[in-house]
Amino acid sequence: MKIVWEQSIYVGNAPVFCSICGCQSYPVRNQNNQLLLAVIYNKQGVALGEACRDCVASGSVGIRSRLEERIQSLQAKIAELQTLAETEIQTPSLEQEFQAYRRDTV
Ligand SMILES: [Zn+2]
Repeated sequence: MKIVWEQSIYVGNAPVFCSICGCQSYPVRNQNNQLLLAVIYNKQGVALGEACRDCVASGSVGIRSRLEERIQSLQAKIAELQTLAETEIQTPSLEQEFQAYRRDTV
């Protein structure tokens, strides 16, 4: 993985999601008033997304441990979703739906 600060290709100061830790990140403004984003490239030179300032600042060792943390949390989430997918799915009754809707509009 290679991370390069580049001029943002997006319009305005819109936040991006860090591909490493998943948090929301805003572009950085440089001295020339340009908005910069830390773009992540894979081995083949294909851009895979952006990194937040914290991740960039944490260095290669920090990034690796952040990635491992994120992988673990996503795997836990996947396991949770798989468990849910294996169980019977019961949706609210029509009456419950109607009551929820009525409460909402009052
Ligand atoms: Zn990050």
